[in-house]
Amino acid sequence: MSKNLFCDICGKFKYLTIPHKCPPKWQVCEYDEEDVEFVDVYADTAEEAAKEFAADYDRRNGDFDIANGDDVKIKVQSVGGDRSYWLVSGESIPEYYAKEEHEPF
Ligand SMILES: [Zn+2]
Repeated sequence: MSKNLFCDICGKFKYLTIPHKCPPKWQVCEYDEEDVEFVDVYADTAEEAAKEFAADYDRRNGDFDIANGDDVKIKVQSVGGDRSYWLVSGESIPEYYAKEEHEPF
């Protein structure tokens, strides 16, 4: 898939039939750690920003702590400075596959 199908600013998929408009920018960080810097996240709502940050958090640390049941406290700040606080959690959902075999086992 070509990279130019994704917005250079927000990173979201750009549909060819719909003019692209970036969702609002939020600044998001893990609440517990004092030294953590805010990360820019583009999302329609503060809740979506918290969830996107959580997914990226899991991918970054590679252990998928949130998807494996840990809760993480997250702070979300709007461009206007309004802050909200989110306790994010998640789950990993099993995916099953079936492939037909032409002979019995
Ligand atoms: Zn965009």
